[in-house]
Amino acid sequence: MAPKTEDLAEFFRIRKIGFGRCLVPTMQCDQPAIRAHSIQNRQTIALLEQDNHVLAWQPRFSQAGPDIALRRIGRNDASTFAGFCNQHDTELFRPLDTKPLDGADREQLFLLAYRGITCELHAIMSSAVQLQSLYTARVERGVDSADSSSPSGQKAVEQMLLFWATWRYRHSYYDGPLLRGSFDGVEHDVIELSSQAPCLAASSFITVRDAPFHEELVGVAINILPVSETRTLAVFSYAKKDQGSVRAALDRVLGSSGDLQKYELSKLVLSRISNVLISPRHYDRWGTERAKKIADAFVRTVESQQDVGEDADFMLF
Ligand SMILES: [Zn+2]
Repeated sequence: MAPKTEDLAEFFRIRKIGFGRCLVPTMQCDQPAIRAHSIQNRQTIALLEQDNHVLAWQPRFSQAGPDIALRRIGRNDASTFAGFCNQHDTELFRPLDTKPLDGADREQLFLLAYRGITCELHAIMSSAVQLQSLYTARVERGVDSADSSSPSGQKAVEQMLLFWATWRYRHSYYDGPLLRGSFDGVEHDVIELSSQAPCLAASSFITVRDAPFHEELVGVAINILPVSETRTLAVFSYAKKDQGSVRAALDRVLGSSGDLQKYELSKLVLSRISNVLISPRHYDRWGTERAKKIADAFVRTVESQQDVGEDADFMLF
C-alpha cells in the first residue's frame, strides 16, 4: 500500500525534511544546507573548464515557456545543489574529495554514488515543493479544489511519493552502511574510456524498471568523470541484489567497447541525465547545427520520458 497523504506529511515532519535542510544519513541535522558541488570542482571540473566556465543544461524562461539549452555557467556554480550543510559535505566526502579517484577504492565509489543519489533526492524535493506551491496557488485562486484529487494536486503528491521511495532506497542500501563504514552491499561496474580527452562529467541516479511507489526501487547511480587528460571513468553503482536487473538494463553500454561504447553511453546520458557538465572546448567543436540537434533530443526525452533514438550526432565524447 502506498502511504496516505497524512502519513507522508508525518514522514516529512519527523525527519525534518524540508527545502534547504541537510540530507545527512541520519536525517537529523539542523544546519542549513549550503550549495555544494555534486560534481567535484577541484579535480573534475578543473579538467573541463575554460576561462572558469563549463556548459550545463539550463532553462531560460520566456513568454513562450521554458527554453532549455546548454549554457555557460561559472565553475563555482556548476552542478551545485543545497543538499548538505557545510560540515557534513566536508566530513562525509573527505575520502572522495582529498585524493584522486581510484576505480578500485570501494569507499570512494560508494561515496560517489551517495552524492549522486542525494543530488537526485534534492532535485525531486525541489520539484515536489514547486508543484505543491503551484497547487496551493491554484486552490487559493479557486481553480482547483482542496481535496487534492485534481491533476495538479495529484502531481504534487506523486512527486512526494517519488521522494519517499528514493529516500527509502538510499536508507536501505546506503545510510546505515555509510555510518558503519561498511561498503560491500553496493556493487560497482567501472568502465574506463581510454584515449579520451575530458569532454563531459555527469552524476545522477536513475531507476531501471518502472515500479509502483510502494515497491522497492531498482536503480543505479551513474557517475561519469574525467580523471586525467586522457582517461574518463564511468561508474555504475547498485545494490548487490539488483545486479542482474541493472546489468540487463545497461547491457548496451556495459556489453560494448571502444567508440560504440562511448556512443551507447552518450545516448544513456542524453536520455536520462540532466546533471551534466560539458567542456566548452569540446562543445565548440560540435557546431551550431549539431548542438541544436543534441538540445532538441534532450528536451524531447525530458518531455516524453522516452529513449533518445539513434543518430551518430548524439555522440557526446
Ligand atoms: Zn548537516
